[in-house]
Amino acid sequence: YDDKDGMIWMDGQLVPWRDANVHILSHAMHYASSVFEGERCYSGKIFKSREHSERLLESGRLLDMPIPYSVDQIEAAKTAVLEANNLTDAYVRAVAWRGAGPDMGVAARRNPVRMAVAAWEWGAYYGDAKWQGAKLDIAKWRRPSPETIPTSAKAAGLYMICTMSKHAAEEKGCSDALFYDYRGYVAEATGANVFFVKDGEVHTPWPDAILNGITRQTVIAMLRDMGIVVHERHIMPEELAGFSECWLTGTAAEVTPVGQIGEHNFQVGQMTRKVAETYEALVRA
Ligand code: PMP
Repeated sequence: YDDKDGMIWMDGQLVPWRDANVHILSHAMHYASSVFEGERCYSGKIFKSREHSERLLESGRLLDMPIPYSVDQIEAAKTAVLEANNLTDAYVRAVAWRGAGPDMGVAARRNPVRMAVAAWEWGAYYGDAKWQGAKLDIAKWRRPSPETIPTSAKAAGLYMICTMSKHAAEEKGCSDALFYDYRGYVAEATGANVFFVKDGEVHTPWPDAILNGITRQTVIAMLRDMGIVVHERHIMPEELAGFSECWLTGTAAEVTPVGQIGEHNFQVGQMTRKVAETYEALVRA
């Protein structure tokens, strides 16, 4: 996958895809000093592009790893990558990390903070069976407390248990895993937020130990505009049995219907369809 045509923006310049390498002694490789963004470009325009650039900078600040670029510079980098690769509909990955330098220990202020942006075509995150409803496993691991790790950062270290949980889910024939948080509340999937429907109203976890996704915020605003009541609150696993519909939201996942979580089944119902269609129209508007 690294030996491919195309261009990647790295530290201020476009470099050939196959030359976009980092040194094995990069601090990020050893200590997870890395933050990233996942974005989608629709018909030539990245949806909520500035919000993603701002979140990337905020993630860097939260990790005491200031990223040496402004929002405008990051916007320009993303545009340059899309143009250089002739992409109008694509997934965009921005990443910033602490590189190699004089410090090989945990403290690494003298090592430069580096940044790259890549883009490629990426279709439906859960494959073509989207409308059948994704099947989710309950993760063995839990989303950590905000006193343990900065949970509002989109930081690489927070994804270690995501990869482990998604692998375990896939081995059981599921497409993703749903996490509970450190208190036992329903939290999020490995790369997406979760929503439920009950009696025509929507319920979604309060974002105090999860990533408050940009898609999540967009969908909540969209639902409220449609006059639908949205409850952001702590949701107990025992409540899963009482919900009729469920979907996931995320930049990559967009709005993905969920058909099953563990032993609980959900219908791909009217509300889910409406939300998915409205979101699809919004990102291309
Ligand atoms: N939670 C996690 C753990 C994620 O990785 C993502 C994807 N960035 C989300 C939620 C959804 O966030 P967004 O809508 O900003 O893509």
